[in-house]
Amino acid sequence: MHEPQLDVIAVGAHPDDVEICCGGAVAKLVEQGYRVGIVDLTDGEPTPGSPGPEVRLAEAQRAAEVLGVETRVTLELPNRRLFDTFEARVALAKEFRRYRPRLVLGFGGTTPVASPDHYQASLITAAAVFYSRLTGWEEHFGGLAIHAVERHLEFFMMFRSLTPVEHGGIVIDIGDTLEKKIAALAAYESQYPPERRHVLERFRAFARQQGMAAGFAAGEVLASPTTWGTRDLMGLLFGTEEAKNRLPSGDNRAEPHPGY
Ligand SMILES: [Zn+2]
Repeated sequence: MHEPQLDVIAVGAHPDDVEICCGGAVAKLVEQGYRVGIVDLTDGEPTPGSPGPEVRLAEAQRAAEVLGVETRVTLELPNRRLFDTFEARVALAKEFRRYRPRLVLGFGGTTPVASPDHYQASLITAAAVFYSRLTGWEEHFGGLAIHAVERHLEFFMMFRSLTPVEHGGIVIDIGDTLEKKIAALAAYESQYPPERRHVLERFRAFARQQGMAAGFAAGEVLASPTTWGTRDLMGLLFGTEEAKNRLPSGDNRAEPHPGY
């Protein structure tokens, strides 16, 4: 079976991780015409407030529709007991081989006061990017051909820290997709029932603050585990003609000298 190729795969430990950390960026990529998929390593169950895995899965599919992603895959790795094992690495690498993304987005760093699964997911994702390209190991990957992921960037769940991302962070302008991100999160009614809806407002405020750092109305931070480089300084600073045509207007345009 040969699945249609994706441009980007975002990997979370649990359904809603991708929405929390980079849902606006995912929606933005989709609006820009890229084919994006989401892989959740676990079904996130059991979890407080959820009546069962079927409900959470249905919520995840509704959130995926809001973001406009092509596909959402839920692997059968164990929630709360997620570990960077050989089997977990292979399971995710098979998805990379199946969908052949150019770019993988995955967890970076640790997530204090949240699930330790997130840190394990960062280890599994980095390892799976590596495993996806390894030759001479076909027997572990169900006959799927190797695939070299070109770039791997990390997102962060760092709400309980004032420490900024230390290495190579870049703010993605999500000024015009912030409400899609919030709507995708609101699809998780079991996670954000009426008495927890204030959490969505905090996510919105956090995105506003992250965007402000780069002169955008809202933003999400992605970082490269390797140092950024460019062969086209002017293209990086000012964009190619194609990129310029995609620049948003009005409040969402980066302000080189913001008036505050
Ligand atoms: Zn999570």
